[in-house]
Amino acid sequence: MNYTQELNVALSAVAEAAKLCRLVQSAIVVESAQKEDRSPVTVADYASQAIVCRRLHEAFPNDPVIGEEDSSDLRGGKHQGLGDAVLQQVRSALPDASLAEVFGWIDQGRTSEFSSRFWTLDPIDGTKGFLRRDQYAVSLALIVNGQITVSALACPNLPVAGESDEQRGVIFTAIKGQGARLHVLDRLHTPPQPVRVSRTANSADARFCESFESGHSAHDTSADIARHLGMTAPAVRLDSQAKYGVVARGGADIYLRMPTRADYQEKIWDHAGGVLVVEEAGGQVSDITGAPLDFTLGRTLAKNRGVVVTNGLLHAAVIDAIRAVG
Ligand code: AMP
Ligand code: MG
Repeated sequence: MNYTQELNVALSAVAEAAKLCRLVQSAIVVESAQKEDRSPVTVADYASQAIVCRRLHEAFPNDPVIGEEDSSDLRGGKHQGLGDAVLQQVRSALPDASLAEVFGWIDQGRTSEFSSRFWTLDPIDGTKGFLRRDQYAVSLALIVNGQITVSALACPNLPVAGESDEQRGVIFTAIKGQGARLHVLDRLHTPPQPVRVSRTANSADARFCESFESGHSAHDTSADIARHLGMTAPAVRLDSQAKYGVVARGGADIYLRMPTRADYQEKIWDHAGGVLVVEEAGGQVSDITGAPLDFTLGRTLAKNRGVVVTNGLLHAAVIDAIRAVG
């Protein structure tokens, strides 16, 4: 089966959502972020889900979507007034949209059960990074018979050509078995470039990345693992699935996500888009025991603990180190 149409729809859907998110993020003033006003990210989050689900529904009306959000909080008391703000944002991309339509599109992402073909969407992954005007992602993946088959991962704030580039905004895409590619968000008409993981084979030379938030990944445990592997470079901390993109293009060799509590189940939309990009760039992804991530269980990776992403060459050494420090 050829998934070119799925990839093209996914790419244009996340691009549209990413541009909207970028506008909302650029209007955030540092003061409101300091006051912990989460409304900008809430508005962009719902608007992003509405736009992506609408595009998916238009192209593939029978495909279910397991998305992070649903409209119940917008309709009820919790976020009253935000519905109109979401509508206003969606109208910047779709001028004729009505509030009822927007709620309907958002709720197309309300599926929770596994099926033989479905999409999973994180409309804004890394909400804390978004509010800090730092890294976040729009992540979309198609899962067929439990296998991630197509993915589009937009990172609107990631430098285009390596860490020091002023120009920002990329989209990583992949189709299973066909490699990973990098598109420039503001130049989608130019051909995408192939993406490959690093060739670092000696763990002492490796650079790793992890969550900015210590509540999402245990920084002390990852420091122990790094020490065990003889690594000396400090961890690069950034929000969202941009970490998968950084490993996929060789900007880091390892991404560690070490559990902070025993009962947390990773959400599928926090990983599916990034996992295929890394695998198709030549890397490897597993949980902290080395087991593959199981996307057949509905909204969560209930059978997995934590996540380990590497360039492939380092995978066995990292899993051994986790066992050793465990
Ligand atoms: P990151 O930006 O990589 O830190 O990941 C952001 C994601 O972490 C959010 O989308 C949440 O779904 C997820 N998250 C929330 N709580 C936890 C937790 N205790 N452990 C791991 N991930 C979490
Ligand atoms: Mg997320």
